[in-house]
Amino acid sequence: MMMKLADLIEENVEEIAALDAVNGGKLFTLCKAIDIPGAARTLRYYAGAADKIHGTVLKMSKGLQGYTLREPIGVVGSIIPWNFPTTMFFMKAAPALAAGCTLVVKPAEQTPLSALYYAHLAKLAGIPDGVLNVVNGFGETAGAAISAHMDIDKVTFTGSTEVGRKIMAAAAASNLKPVSLELGGKSPLLIFDDADIDQAADIAFRGMFYNKGEICVASSRVYVQEGIYEKLVKKLVEKAKATVVGDPFDPQVNQGPQTDKKQFEKILSYIEHGKREGATLLTGGKHVGQKGYYIEPTIFTDVNEDMIITKEEIFGPVMSLMKFKTMEEAIKRANNTTYGLASGIITKNLNVANTVSRSIRAGVVWINCYTAFDVDCPYGGYKMSGSGRDFGLDALNQYLQIKSVVTPIHDSPW
Ligand code: ADP
Repeated sequence: MMMKLADLIEENVEEIAALDAVNGGKLFTLCKAIDIPGAARTLRYYAGAADKIHGTVLKMSKGLQGYTLREPIGVVGSIIPWNFPTTMFFMKAAPALAAGCTLVVKPAEQTPLSALYYAHLAKLAGIPDGVLNVVNGFGETAGAAISAHMDIDKVTFTGSTEVGRKIMAAAAASNLKPVSLELGGKSPLLIFDDADIDQAADIAFRGMFYNKGEICVASSRVYVQEGIYEKLVKKLVEKAKATVVGDPFDPQVNQGPQTDKKQFEKILSYIEHGKREGATLLTGGKHVGQKGYYIEPTIFTDVNEDMIITKEEIFGPVMSLMKFKTMEEAIKRANNTTYGLASGIITKNLNVANTVSRSIRAGVVWINCYTAFDVDCPYGGYKMSGSGRDFGLDALNQYLQIKSVVTPIHDSPW
């Protein structure tokens, strides 16, 4: 059924891509080329794992034998955000279904459409009623009802750190259901002097401005070693100026509108805050056009880790660009954050890459690349970026629990 659902998603790619573009201001071409095919791949990956969930035979002590069963945890509540409506839906639903769980998915109120379409396709794929359920609604009502529900056995959440905290508290106050959280980030990208400047500029720019900066792993803190700093700044500013901001259905456009008014206003207020804090606005900073929630790709420099714009997750097209001298300094500053979701390093020096990747406290380190996601690669945060992992076989464990079965071998004192 999961395989069939993957086929149906591929057959309807245009329609689903249009739903996510209309709802979230996401680029239609990228939804079609990346998000929707990625959902089909995720379903197939976990469908392949569904019949390979094994327990272990235990050694035990004399006189006893035992084995473990890995059983579905039960009913899963999945509360997801609006920035990647399709990716998030299947990142949670596919491993949960493969583990044998049923789900109640609550999409973000800003992006309810593709989730409803997936419920429809699930029915066509033969998934029985009651297995994959979609409940639209607001966070404080529908989301809170899931977190506090006595008959929901687990909650998986992606969203803000603030809401993650509320969900964990509601779970603790109700039936102590386990909660996995993928929360905010303020991810550092470290670019060393030996980097290829054009490649580094491409990676840094895409890492930050992909999906109009509405991406948890955005490389929103870019640290550049002093030898190449000026050259890199120039390249990044050129890229920002060349970005076409506009209609997400226009194939010439590189950046669509922010998802809604609230988000749009929040980003502009961070930009104003940055200016007031004394950061230098290198480029951008303004609303594009008179209508719609379009914001110029924005780059600040002369910033430090104590400034609000470098400390807090903006979730919009705003980069903080900083200069560093030594690797030790870069590591220290990269770790100077309450978050720990993602990070990146650009260098040709293997020793530097190895040392930095072991020193940064984050759930992923991308070396000479960024946002290089793969369904086989576990994804999640250190520190206040959350707990638990999505993707990879590790994600299956979130939806399974272990039962031990023990029996005496022969006459036993037990
Ligand atoms: P963002 O800040 O990215 O909008 P949120 O964390 O506010 O992210 O929202 C992510 C998801 O959490 C959405 O589906 C939203 O409806 C839900 N949500 C918001 N508030 C609560 C809450 N108090 N309890 C449970 N879910 C919530």
